[in-house]
Amino acid sequence: MFRFRSIRSRLAVTFLLTIIAVMLIVGLFLDQLLERYYIKSLEENLLRSGNLAGQFVSAYLQEEADPVRLSWLAENFGRQSRARVIFVNEKMVVLGDSVRVGGLLGQLLDREEIKDALAGESGFAIQYSELSRQKVMQVALPIYADNETVGAVFLSASLQEIGKIMADTRRFFLLTTLLAAIVAGVGAVILARRFSGPLELLSEAAGSMAEGRLDQKIEVQSADEIGRLAQRFNYMAEQLNYHTKNLRNFVANVAHEVRTPLASLSLIIKSLKNYQMEPEQQQEFIDDLDREMDRLIALVQDLLDLTTLEGGAARFAPVDLREVIGKLYQQAAPRFDHQEVRLLTDLPVKRVLVSGAALQLRQVFQNLLDNALKSTASGGWVKISLGAEETAASIKIEDTGCGIPEKDLPFIFERFYRIDQARSREEGGTGLGLAIVKETVEAHGGRVWAESEEGKGSTFYVNLPLLAESVNDN
Ligand code: ADP
Repeated sequence: MFRFRSIRSRLAVTFLLTIIAVMLIVGLFLDQLLERYYIKSLEENLLRSGNLAGQFVSAYLQEEADPVRLSWLAENFGRQSRARVIFVNEKMVVLGDSVRVGGLLGQLLDREEIKDALAGESGFAIQYSELSRQKVMQVALPIYADNETVGAVFLSASLQEIGKIMADTRRFFLLTTLLAAIVAGVGAVILARRFSGPLELLSEAAGSMAEGRLDQKIEVQSADEIGRLAQRFNYMAEQLNYHTKNLRNFVANVAHEVRTPLASLSLIIKSLKNYQMEPEQQQEFIDDLDREMDRLIALVQDLLDLTTLEGGAARFAPVDLREVIGKLYQQAAPRFDHQEVRLLTDLPVKRVLVSGAALQLRQVFQNLLDNALKSTASGGWVKISLGAEETAASIKIEDTGCGIPEKDLPFIFERFYRIDQARSREEGGTGLGLAIVKETVEAHGGRVWAESEEGKGSTFYVNLPLLAESVNDN
């Protein structure tokens, strides 16, 4: 269907109209120029012939004029200049006419141009001749003898030939315009198809995506803007598809994680309701209930933390990492003592300032310390060190724990990834601790990674960009 709103038709129509307008303007201009040129050259031709004839016959006009001779001369000049030539005396009586039969010999030729010529100027007119039924150019020139006007020569030439040439030119030009318009039209349609084809594909694919079919890919090979748009679109579709799958996985994982403690809770509550128990046994069940509740609350808290981090809502301010880690050390020390794991620190003398959210950064080091403590047996040690390099603050948390198997190391920062599912849950882990660490560090423009040797221990590294002012600090 020919829709006037499509790029294709708009482009084609614009192309056509432009070509036609340009050709018409050029055509009109050329037409005027040509016609003027032809007329001018005919006029010059007539004037030249007229002058020549006038000079030639001036001697004959002085003597007794011989009409036969003069007519014969007029005929000769007429043949040369392809015009009718008439000689008149100073009283405007025709003395010679190149038209022998039915000519004006002996008659009075009372015309404005001749009057002008007798007054000493050349007369000129273009008019429609009733006699020959065509447009003619008429020129009259004075004939002098001894500096006196003795008569005039009158030439009349048909413009029919010029008319014919002009008509031919116009026809040729119209034909050229028509051809150019056809070529332009076809070109425009081909060009527009190259544009609108991929755009239609894009629009269809976008529509499919809106309806939920995210695995869209457009085949566009061109390297122009449309090709780049298609590439971007494909990339966007890929990313959207990937993130949506991720999100679906995440939701499935969350549901799975929540179901386990909920199932335990339901079981405990049903047991309490349905069975008669000794008070001590009842207390045990209530303790289980408490533990499962804590686990659920921890999970929900972790999920909340992750979502807040992803929202990027936290406001950043200068944070002194030495102070954050120092306080954390004091709070965590009793728990380490309790499990007979030594907690060591290596803090610099100067402040180490980064831009960030203090509570979130504290959470990062807390998670890393908790993990280290969980995996280190009594008698071992955990060390947290802080240093400042040129542009980055570097934090290192080493432990002498069980280590992380090489095959698990690349995945430990993923959500819900646990090395030993059962044990981790048993210890109250949500599988989100390291995901929160990574998300937070990256939101602060930093990087986190781990090295580990199974059976010997692990080291976690965190790098955060330093605040410029702390570099020149006291
Ligand atoms: P969780 O909250 O269950 O501990 P994390 O995301 O914090 O989950 O950790 C992911 C996995 O990496 C867990 O299975 C955990 O046991 C393991 N892990 C983390 N830190 C260490 C460490 N320092 N030493 C050994 N294993 C660790």
